[in-house]
Amino acid sequence: MKITYPHMGLLTIALAGFFQDIGLEVVPPPPITKKTVNLGALHSPEFACLPLKINVGNFIEALETGADTIIMAGGTGPCRFGCYAQVQREILRDLGCRFEMIILEPPQGNWQGLFRQLKRLRGNCSPKMLALAGLNLWRKLKAMERLHKKSLKVRAREINKGDTTKAYNKGLGMLAEIKDPQAIPQVLRDGLGLLEEVPKDSNSQPLRIGLVGEIYTLLEPFANLRIEELLGDRGVEVECSAYISDWIIEHLVLNTLRLPAGLAVKKAAAPYLNCFVGGHGRETVGDTVRYARRGFDGVIHVLPFTCTPEIVAQSILPVVSRREGIPFLSVSLDEQSGEAGLITRLEAFLDLLAEKSKKNFQLSRKKSLFGKIGSNAGKWR
Ligand code: SF4
Repeated sequence: MKITYPHMGLLTIALAGFFQDIGLEVVPPPPITKKTVNLGALHSPEFACLPLKINVGNFIEALETGADTIIMAGGTGPCRFGCYAQVQREILRDLGCRFEMIILEPPQGNWQGLFRQLKRLRGNCSPKMLALAGLNLWRKLKAMERLHKKSLKVRAREINKGDTTKAYNKGLGMLAEIKDPQAIPQVLRDGLGLLEEVPKDSNSQPLRIGLVGEIYTLLEPFANLRIEELLGDRGVEVECSAYISDWIIEHLVLNTLRLPAGLAVKKAAAPYLNCFVGGHGRETVGDTVRYARRGFDGVIHVLPFTCTPEIVAQSILPVVSRREGIPFLSVSLDEQSGEAGLITRLEAFLDLLAEKSKKNFQLSRKKSLFGKIGSNAGKWR
């Protein structure tokens, strides 16, 4: 069995180690390129969402390089994710690809189905080995996410453009290569140290922007056209509202134990959207409210074109923006989107935020915000 899986940001790196730990032969999908997206778009329904198209491209390329088994997460809807894996399987079969697809459905309190699928995967691996591999996957993922969070802060203050990205990629590479899980804390310290060494402007007080939206597009840099880097390179500190470890805690742990999950974000969203609309629609609204209350300068809403939960959220965000006093920009992405167009929109948005900050400063001169506004306004122009 030569297994493969779709790309999804940091999870892809951690998954490779997990499958190797349980003794499976892994054929990682080749890195996503324009060709991957074009392949996926060519063979998927026109109005399918971008993540589905990119995944189809990943699978075609991985099958071409020798994979014969695809691992894919299942879903429950109510958006298209409920039948996502099945649609991908049919597309690939229609293309004449020979493969097996193992769909890992979310347990939703019933672990038996998931265990049955995992049993097919684990082969001769003992339950203890499986649990250890799972633990290592978790530790690696958490370490990578810490590195990622730190990189977002450092990039906004770096003096030489590109230093942070180099240090971050090096740190990720070191974590990816770890074979002995005991080494994870030390390698993480080394990775954080690399970021610490990046020369920074210690007086800089950058604009702060929260990223909200559909989880795949937030987590996969190719899908969001590296929006975090684009903003960081313009001296903006970004905070991402979604991490895969939070999704695992909520969906695989708390839901299974029937414990309440995501209470803070649901409470924040409640005056505007008080029910589940699929995907991360409710989280988008709740996180926007929370960023406003934490004093962020703005929010960028990232969504795949035609994503139903995010279209619901998008229609509510103008009200949230007005009442909570936070500017937002919605960025809808598909296979036609390009970096140049995105940069134009981002820079126009940053211009507005800098202008707004200046107004705040003029209104509250006594609060000595001059340094903050001065450094923001000059930094990216
Ligand atoms: S959340 Fe949006 S992008 Fe994801 S599967 Fe559902 S409709 Fe598609």
